[in-house]
Amino acid sequence: MSEVDAVVVGSGPNGLAAAVTLARAGLSVRVFEREATIGGGARTMELTLPGFHHDVCSAVHPMALASGFFRNFRLQDRIELRVPEVSYGHPLDGGRAGIAYRDIHRTAEALGRDGDAWLSLMGPLADNADAVARFAGSPILRIPRNPVTVGRFGLRALEQGLPTWNLRFRERVAPAMLTGVAAHSIRQMPSLATAGAGLSLGAYAHGRGWPIPVGGSQAIVDAMADDLRAHGGEIVTNSAVTDIEEVHGARAVLFDTSARGLLRIAGDRLPDGYVRRVERFRYGNAVAKVDFALSGPVPWTNEELRKAGTLHVGGSREEIAAAEDEVAAGRHSERPYVLLAQPSILDEGRAPDGGHVLWAYTHVPRGSTLDQTEVITRQIERFAPGFRDLVLASSNKTAVDMEDQNPNYIAGDIAAGEASMRQLIARPLLSLDPWRTPARGVYLASSSTPPGPGVHGLAGWYAARSALRHEFGITSMPSLAP
Ligand SMILES: Cc1cc2nc3c(=O)[nH]c(=O)nc-3n(C[C@H](O)[C@H](O)[C@H](O)COP(=O)(O)OP(=O)(O)OC[C@H]3O[C@@H](n4cnc5c(N)ncnc54)[C@H](O)[C@@H]3O)c2cc1C
Repeated sequence: MSEVDAVVVGSGPNGLAAAVTLARAGLSVRVFEREATIGGGARTMELTLPGFHHDVCSAVHPMALASGFFRNFRLQDRIELRVPEVSYGHPLDGGRAGIAYRDIHRTAEALGRDGDAWLSLMGPLADNADAVARFAGSPILRIPRNPVTVGRFGLRALEQGLPTWNLRFRERVAPAMLTGVAAHSIRQMPSLATAGAGLSLGAYAHGRGWPIPVGGSQAIVDAMADDLRAHGGEIVTNSAVTDIEEVHGARAVLFDTSARGLLRIAGDRLPDGYVRRVERFRYGNAVAKVDFALSGPVPWTNEELRKAGTLHVGGSREEIAAAEDEVAAGRHSERPYVLLAQPSILDEGRAPDGGHVLWAYTHVPRGSTLDQTEVITRQIERFAPGFRDLVLASSNKTAVDMEDQNPNYIAGDIAAGEASMRQLIARPLLSLDPWRTPARGVYLASSSTPPGPGVHGLAGWYAARSALRHEFGITSMPSLAP
C-alpha cells in the first residue's frame, strides 16, 4: 500500500471526524477498520428479522445538533434528522408519566405544582443550550467562553449532585425525570458527574431536541465517510491494526481505540511514565443490550409516551438510584434502569408492514455474561401491558458481547473509560492536550479522551487539530462545510 500522510485506526464517529478534518486540510488519509462495516458505535443493521433496521449502539443524537464538529460539518444539511415532539418520557406506576416536551412550558404545565421549579432549574440552561453544549463539549481545563451560563450550570449541578437533590420539588414526577437523564452516566447517584450529564442532556431536550436520524445512526457516519472519500481519503475495512509498525510511514497515526487499545498497539513507542499514568485510567460498569422487532408500537398505558423518541424506564427517583447502587456494588438489579428508544415512531422505514424496532439497554456490572432480555421485557410490561405479545424477535448482547463486537467497550463499558468527574477532567490523564501522546506523531482520538462518550465527533476533531498543528504546522483549521 502506498504511504499516506496520516492514518486513523478505527472508523467510529471520532475516527471519521479526525479523518475528515485531516483530509480537508489537504493531507492524504487512510482509515483502518477491523470490522466489515464502518461506523463503530454508530452502525445500523438488520439484527433480528429482514427489513428491521436496528441501531447496533447509539440511537438518539442530542449532540448531532449541539456538537461544534457537527455544526461545522453541517450534518443537518447532509442527512435528515427528525426531532420528536417528546424528547424523553418517563413512565411511572398507575399510568402516570413525566413528559419532557421540546417545549419547556408545556413540560412545566404538565408537572403541576412542580412546574415552576422545573422552569427555574432547566429554563436558563435550555435558553442557553448551545453554550451548555459548548461547555460540556470542551475539555474542562479550558477557560469557558460563557462564564455566566457555566456558573448557572455549576450551581445546578451542585444542587442535583448532592443528597439534598429533592429540596426544590414537592411531587415525585420531576425528580424521577431528572434521575432518568442523569442515569445515562452508569454511576451511583447523586453525584456531580451524573448531575452534570443529566442537566446538559436535559438542556438540549428543551433547547434543540433529541433527534433521530432517518435511516439510523449509520446515516451519520456514512455522511462522514462520503465527505472523507470526496476529499481523497480511503477506508480499509476488515483490517485490524495490532502493532503500530503495521502503519509505519505515516507522519501521524490517530487511534480511535480505547486508551488501553493505544497501549496495546503502540505501547513500545510510549515512555514508561506515560504508560503507567494511562494504565491508571479506570473502566466503568457496563450495558447489556436487547433489540426487539415488534408487530406494532409499544402499548404504553400513558399514551403521551407513544410520542417519545427516548424513554427512561425504572420508576421513581429512589428506585432508579437503588438499581444503580446495585450495579455499582457489582450486582444485577431485578428492577433495573432501562434506556429505550423507539426510532420507528419517527422513521417508518426502519421496519416493514406497520412493524416497529425497539432499542433497549440496561446497566450491568462490568464483565457480565447475563442475557437481560427477560428483565428488560418485565420492566417494559410494567408500564405497557401486552408488550410481550408484540415481540416478533429479539437480539441480545451481554456486556461481554459488547466488547467482542468492539474492543473499545472494555468489559461492556460503552464510554471507553468511566465517566467520573475526575476522569472527565483527566481523560485518559491530566493534560492541556490529552489527545497528543509523548511519542512523535501518535494521537488518541476516541471517547477515552475529552469530552468523553457520545456521537459528537469532538474527540476526533480535537485530536486532528492537535496533529495538524504539531506534525504538519497547519494552524488555520480547514472548513468542513459541504
Ligand atoms: C449500546 C450503546 C448505546 C449508545 N447510545 C448512544 C446514544 O444513543 N447516543 C450517543 O450519542 N451515544 C451513544 N453511545 C455512545 C457512542 O456510541 C460512543 O461514545 C461513540 O461511538 C464513540 O465513538 P468513537 O469513535 O470514540 O469509538 P467507536 O464508535 O467505539 O469506534 C471505534 C472503532 O474503532 C474500531 N477499532 C477498534 N480497535 C481497532 C483496531 N485495532 N484496528 C482497527 N479498528 C479498530 C472499532 O471496530 C470501531 O469501529 C452508545 C454506545 C453503545 C455501545
